[in-house]
Amino acid sequence: MADNAGLFARANEVIPGGVDSPVRAFGAVGGTPYFVARGEGMHVWDVEGHRYTDYVQSWGASILGHAHPKVIEAVQAAAADGTSFGAPTEREVLLAEAIRSRVPSCARVRLVSSGTEATMTALRIARGFTGRERIVKFAGCYHGHSDALLAEAGSGVATFGLPGSAGVTKASVADTIVVPYNVVPDIGDDVAAVIVEPVAANMGVVAPVPGFLGGLRTACDAAGALLIFDEVITGFRLGLGGAQGAYGVTPDVSCFGKVIGGGLPLAAVGGRVDVMSVLAPDGPVYQAGTLSGNPLATAAGLAVLDQLDDAAFVQLAGRAEQLGGWLADVIAEAGLPVQVSVVGPLLTVFFADGPPVDYASAKRADTKLYARFFHEMLDRGVALPPSQFEAMFPSLAHTKDELERTADLAAAAARACA
Ligand SMILES: *Cc1c(COP(=O)(O)O)cnc(C)c1O
Repeated sequence: MADNAGLFARANEVIPGGVDSPVRAFGAVGGTPYFVARGEGMHVWDVEGHRYTDYVQSWGASILGHAHPKVIEAVQAAAADGTSFGAPTEREVLLAEAIRSRVPSCARVRLVSSGTEATMTALRIARGFTGRERIVKFAGCYHGHSDALLAEAGSGVATFGLPGSAGVTKASVADTIVVPYNVVPDIGDDVAAVIVEPVAANMGVVAPVPGFLGGLRTACDAAGALLIFDEVITGFRLGLGGAQGAYGVTPDVSCFGKVIGGGLPLAAVGGRVDVMSVLAPDGPVYQAGTLSGNPLATAAGLAVLDQLDDAAFVQLAGRAEQLGGWLADVIAEAGLPVQVSVVGPLLTVFFADGPPVDYASAKRADTKLYARFFHEMLDRGVALPPSQFEAMFPSLAHTKDELERTADLAAAAARACA
């Protein structure tokens, strides 16, 4: 029988670090990652047969829970008709229409295969449309792994980007300006776009302070820059209209991913007609993809959107709020420093004394304590994100009873850490 340690050892002999995306390696929490054999609803089972209540849910791609029957059915039916053609298909039109009908700022939508592609394309569109080169991003916001967006900030002050990764040239981030989250920056008339996670969810969940998103809109308008919302996490999760619907601030360009692919590789970039018209073949900005608008992925996306109505989002947010409250209580009762950040259906348990408002304050959380808590929970059959700086993603398949059970297990886990 396969076992986690054996598979990880073999993986390390053939895949760098044993994984195809770094956070899966448990580097931040230590130990051996579980290899998933299958998932159903709120659960995953590893190759050793252990069952976990899963709060990773493919980092938010599975909003209905794993292996939802409607998604499986849609993907199976699509697969039987062929998996990729290199010619347009009807489902691409249906999915683009479905996105536009829910997110009115997306008058035109281009489908791509990953969130990284969506944000990379959004920057190219903004530069092509404005004829400007500079991009403003916020420290701690993640926008995928393209060169220009892998730039980190200096501490707390506006600074020109330094490469956030080896292999990224200084030149490729020379036009990326990194500023602190939740402060409206000065925007010069050489700025093509400001890109932001409207709710930050990649430094742990950090809410936008009142006035931040609206302030960005005003500042972009004054400077003639485009405002890009990276809604790869918030899109179709905060509500049908994403964060822009929830906060009432309309961006020029939006990026989607995760939820709309239903667990298959699919993402999208959408925006105003005049802005999106710069894309080839209409305009001079080149972008393409062999598998873009893939038949299986569009089928899954349509099946997922079909299941999501306002009641679903009310349920998700209500459950997250309850779970967040319980977790804050039981962890505090054990005498540990805790701040549970909840925004709609997203939450993060920060082991910290004060609520985080930006990357600098988020980084004050006790990552060693998080790692211990993570393992105490995993031992009890609950899979949390293997990093302090990621969100928990309760799905529509997580029952209220199970959330209560998670809170009970968290009480025991927290006592074990105290
Ligand atoms: C996950 C994520 C991305 C990157 O998406 P991939 O599909 O992993 O390339 C971009 N932006 C945000 C906000 C994300 O959470």
